Amino acid sequence: MTAQVIDGKAFAAGLRARVAEKVAQLKVDHGLTPGLAVVLVGEDPASEVYVRNKGEQTRAAGMNSFEYKMPATATEAELLERVAALNADPAVHGILVQLPLPRHMDSAKVIDLIDPAKDVDGFHVVNAGKLAVGAKGMVPCTPLGCLMLIKDRLGPNLAGLDAVVIGRSNIVGKPMAQLLLRESCTVTIAHSKTRDLPGVVRRADIVVAAVGVPLMVKGDWVKPGALVIDVGMNRIPKEGSNGTRLVGDVDYQTAAEVAGHITPVPGGVGPMTIACLLANCLTAACAQAGLPEPVL
Ligand code: NDP
Repeated sequence: MTAQVIDGKAFAAGLRARVAEKVAQLKVDHGLTPGLAVVLVGEDPASEVYVRNKGEQTRAAGMNSFEYKMPATATEAELLERVAALNADPAVHGILVQLPLPRHMDSAKVIDLIDPAKDVDGFHVVNAGKLAVGAKGMVPCTPLGCLMLIKDRLGPNLAGLDAVVIGRSNIVGKPMAQLLLRESCTVTIAHSKTRDLPGVVRRADIVVAAVGVPLMVKGDWVKPGALVIDVGMNRIPKEGSNGTRLVGDVDYQTAAEVAGHITPVPGGVGPMTIACLLANCLTAACAQAGLPEPVL
């Protein structure tokens, strides 16, 4: 079997276009423009690229983008002050503090201060709790994007399917597992202490790999016809040059021979994350204005 490739880039472009349409309508109907504030501390080049992309895509969707750059020498108190000011600003509907923060800052403390209604990353404990109890809240962007890709291929009803999520981080693995559970999948969360990981993965109709180990999931771990979502973004040395190349947590070549559907890296999950951030910001703006949740 050769898997059908899940084109996350195209899906994300469609989602961004739907968000832009709703944003335009919101302006006409209610005079409301969603605003996303992104705070970057320090000069990490990868984070600077992410923040620039987020700003560009926010503006392209017709939303206001507010960018705050703070030097790596800024104090935690200064960052907390910035977050408090954004919480109080009615033009800001979504707040994202770019992680990782410099070592002298406690990211849990910073996230904790973000108003949960403006927590478009969905990392606040209130939003994690809402997801766990099945209440409406902000859902972390990467797993939200993964679920959209899964439903696009398998349809809206995932009930009874066996899903294996490899990785239990608070930003990907755990919320991904909660989302699949909410869809009535039978969910297994695997991690570094899981015994016989290949055997566990082989049971799955849906595999989500969010590990950070390059090319770990091999084709002979995958059940024939399974849907494979590769969240991993790992840089490895490029053969025959001094450069690097981006690979996922799944050994794409062998897995694509067995899976029914598979996301490539790059061009799979990656583009969905920013698109879902924009969707979350729109949702947050509507909720803060007392308007119904937009259907995207
Ligand atoms: P973390 O490092 O926070 O978590 C990794 C998880 O993988 C942990 O739960 C860990 O288990 C588990 N793990 C590590 N090694 C193994 C192993 N050998 N076997 C089984 N499980 C293992 O990573 P993140 O969740 O933040 O990110 C995961 C990957 O996704 C990374 O490659 C990251 O770059 C990428 N990513 C991509 C995004 C995108 O937009 N596409 C967004 C966010 C992340 P344990 O808990 O036991 O230590």
